[in-house]
Amino acid sequence: MAIGKVAVLDQPLGTFQIEELHVPDPAPGTVLLRQELAGCCATDAHTYLGQWPADFPVIMGHENVGIVEAIGAGGAQDFLGRELRVGDRVIARTSFCGTCYECRVAHQPRRCRNLRVRYGFSSSQAAPFSGGYGQYLYLSSPQTTFMLKIDTRPSIAALHEPLGVAAHAVRRAQPKLGSTVVVQGSGTIGLFTLGLARLAGATRAIVVGGPGERLELAQAFGADVVINIDEVRTPEERVRLVLEETPGGLGADVVYGCVGKTAAWAEGLHYLRDGDGRFLEVGLAGDDGQVSFNPAQQLVAKNATFIGALGMADEDSLTAIRVIESQRLPLEQVVSHQLPLARVADAMAALNGDYRLDGRTAVKIAIAPNGAVP
Ligand SMILES: [Zn+2]
Ligand SMILES: [Zn+2]
Repeated sequence: MAIGKVAVLDQPLGTFQIEELHVPDPAPGTVLLRQELAGCCATDAHTYLGQWPADFPVIMGHENVGIVEAIGAGGAQDFLGRELRVGDRVIARTSFCGTCYECRVAHQPRRCRNLRVRYGFSSSQAAPFSGGYGQYLYLSSPQTTFMLKIDTRPSIAALHEPLGVAAHAVRRAQPKLGSTVVVQGSGTIGLFTLGLARLAGATRAIVVGGPGERLELAQAFGADVVINIDEVRTPEERVRLVLEETPGGLGADVVYGCVGKTAAWAEGLHYLRDGDGRFLEVGLAGDDGQVSFNPAQQLVAKNATFIGALGMADEDSLTAIRVIESQRLPLEQVVSHQLPLARVADAMAALNGDYRLDGRTAVKIAIAPNGAVP
């Protein structure tokens, strides 16, 4: 029986150990991938800190791409009904059953009651090879797995998950031809939301973020104006600058919160135009506390809409794949670091620190459990 390695985090703020597990023979309907790449994101950083629901000892890694190694009896199809074959490159993530109350009525598929395995958040004991930080990924729950064949290099394919999150954000706040959008934050979600908002038709885009390397990338993703928070240090000054950069100084049609800090939320509301503006928060995945704002002035009198967005629907994953295949965003510039399994801890330290790793600014760090990939 083959053996494969996984990086296991024993507890919040604990240590990553490399464990060797027996590679399962896939059960009927299930699929075993040989992992190529698993992106690291802020959700992983929050999981490490114990600020995101996960079952310990956990195998993290939810932004996955790999090659089909084995398929259970009876075969398996991808989301579009295409038969999977050994050797196919596949992206995979946790989906939902589509039949329970949470899925059908509440429209909160994240809370699907039929979720048994959450890839990247499940226990290594209950579900071996359930996360992307391992040499194999066992897609053991056919009812709640999203799999799609993809024909692009793995360092781009691995971006499908944050791109799906951004596609959800763009779909919900609907920037259109003529719109001015402001994106707060220049991490992966900020860059992708920016790029997709431009593809959706937004005519002007302003990014408030940092550091400088990421803002250069923001320009490649379609920002007309970038404002560096390391240089423009007060919220008041940033609000003034952003408003100056909107047509007529009237404010933005859509503001995307992609920072993950409550304080940024309060600032972003001031970027919004008077009348029918939409503020969508997509960065605040973990609980970052409370904020005060004036609902009479900032919500009611402005006829504003506030939208919260977390995760994505399967349609957003399809949007992400179509954008990847269109090659209309400079996605090849995003994965800045590929690390072996033994360095997962370094990735978490960078994400929970200053985003510096090996002397460079990290944009997207990814774990390459079987060695670096194109
Ligand atoms: Zn993610
Ligand atoms: Zn369900």
